[in-house]
Parts: sequence; C-alpha cells; structure tokens
Amino acid sequence: AKEQGKNNAQFYSTQLSTDSLERLALESSMRKALENREFRLYYQSKQDMLTGRVTGMEALLRWQHPDLGLIAPMQFIPLAEENGLIVPIGRWVFNTACRQNVEWQMQGFPPLSMAVNLSARQFLDEHLLGDIKTTLEETGMAPELLELEITESMMMLDMPRTVRILKDLKRMGVRIAIDDFGTGYSSLSKLKDFPLDTIKIDGSFIQDLVNSAEDRSLTEAIIELGKSLGLTVVAEGVESIEQADYLRVHSCDQFQGFYINMPMPATEFEMSMRDQFRR
Ligand code: C2E
Ligand code: CA
Ligand code: CA
Ligand code: CA
Repeated sequence: AKEQGKNNAQFYSTQLSTDSLERLALESSMRKALENREFRLYYQSKQDMLTGRVTGMEALLRWQHPDLGLIAPMQFIPLAEENGLIVPIGRWVFNTACRQNVEWQMQGFPPLSMAVNLSARQFLDEHLLGDIKTTLEETGMAPELLELEITESMMMLDMPRTVRILKDLKRMGVRIAIDDFGTGYSSLSKLKDFPLDTIKIDGSFIQDLVNSAEDRSLTEAIIELGKSLGLTVVAEGVESIEQADYLRVHSCDQFQGFYINMPMPATEFEMSMRDQFRR
C-alpha cells in the first residue's frame, strides 16, 4: 500500500474518491472505455542483474479517461473485478501485449519476454485457457515469450484448481511468474507443487533494503528459495543503485524499477530499445 500510494501521487493525474455516485459513473464509463479505445498499455523493462541487458518487459494497464486523465490500475481494477469487466479488459490486455511483442520481433529486436498481469477473476474464468490459446494463434506470439504474472494470494484461493490451470498453461508453453511474492501466506512447501518459472520479490521488501535488516534477510531467503526450486528470481520496485548492488551481490537474477525506467507508452519504450540495441 505504501508503494501504491507513492506511485499514484507521483505519476497519475487522477485521485478518485470512493463516493458511490462517482463509482456508478465510473462503472458506466468503464463499459464504454473498451469500445472507445481508452485503455493503454505501458511497458516497463526487466533487466538482467549481471549484464544490465533488457530481457523483457511487463505490460501495465492505464485508462486514458477523456475527462479524468490517466487513471491508475489500482483505481479501477478492483471495480472491474467486482463487475466482471476485468475479463474483457484483460482479454484486450493480453491481445494487445502479444500483438505488440510480435511487432517488435518483426522489427528485429531480440526475443524479449512479455509479462502480463492476471487478476483473480480472470484466472478463475473458465474461458481463460481458450482465450489465451486463441490469442497466441491469432497474433503468432511465441508462447514461451509470454509470461503470466499471478499473485501469490490468487494462487492460494483454490490450490488444486490453481495447479490444474497452471499445468494447462504450461502445456501451451506459456511461462508463469508468481507476483508480489512474500506478501501472501503461501505455505512454502506447497510452492514446489506449482509449475512456476519465476518468482517476483514484492517491491515492499526492496524499498527498505538498505535500512532494514529484516527486509534484507527476507529478501535473501526468497532468493535462496527461488534458486533452490530452479526458478528465475526477479526483484521489482528497484529505485536505487544501492538496492541494485545489494541484489546483484545476493544473486538475484533480474530486476525492474525506476532505477532503470518507469513504465512508458509503446512508442517511447521502442525508442529506448533502439538505443539499447543500437538499431
Ligand atoms: P504490479 O504487477 O505489482 O506492478 C508493479 C507496480 O509497481 C506498477 O504499478 C509499476 O508501475 C510500479 N513500479 C515499477 N517500478 C517501480 C519502482 O521502482 N518503484 C515504485 N514505487 N513502483 C514501481 P502500476 O502500473 O500502477 O500497477 C499497479 C498494479 O495494478 C500492478 O501491480 C498490478 O497488480 C495491477 N495491474 C497493472 N496492469 C494490470 C493488468 O493489465 N491486468 C491486471 N489484472 N492487473 C494489472
Ligand atoms: Ca506484475
Ligand atoms: Ca508485483
Ligand atoms: Ca504489487
């Protein structure tokens, strides 16, 4: 919550109240937003900890509201979860992300992974597998470049079902990341039952890394756990060189954060990739 508050204050123009009339208005404009093409994807890179090279990107949803300006996902996704609109919105998200990734591939950039966030309702939607399969076929996206980010708490809602869905996704060749790791209550022994590829250490641990011995030991424990399970360990919310150095020394594999860049629209992201890959 600490992280989110800071984020909203700094980078979004709109602070929505939870007033019920406003919620109602928001809900009806959310219904129109899809057909009016008001949703945007911003992209933030993931870097290899040792080489600093970009390994992929995460797609992050924004709503460019005609009157309210740029709205943060945390301001409308909870409502979209409640009213079910997150399912079609989410479908638009992975469709757009896959098409963008294919376009960058065709432009000759190296194979970079594309991470997409899923919310609980989407994850439990019976059409998820079919929708993803269709998207992969329609866009020509290489399944192994698509990484679905699922939060730790979502995975614990119904473990047998989660395992089943994840196994089906793996069979399609898609990669799975466990997001916000360390904030949920997963039994660590259960973790090995999930077919995972990546663990993302929650930004709240990274934030106080330099000052908090407790956060340092938790971070080290998560890295070791991930490594022992053969997973790629990614730190999110890395904002300073001190944090990056610490993570590198402790063998974290990849990182994301304002230290390198903020999420940005596709055109800007493409320019930064051109700089990096000198094309
Ligand atoms: P998340 O998946 O944990 O994404 C990380 C959030 O941290 C993003 O906020 C990102 O902009 C922000 N961030 C990145 N680097 C830093 C940093 O160095 N410092 C700080 N303080 N923050 C950093 P954002 O874009 O506002 O997204 C918030 C959350 O909304 C995401 O958290 C994710 O749970 C959800 N979300 C975003 N896009 C989607 C989507 O397409 N579908 C679904 N279902 N959820 C989404
Ligand atoms: Ca994420
Ligand atoms: Ca996260
Ligand atoms: Ca988070």
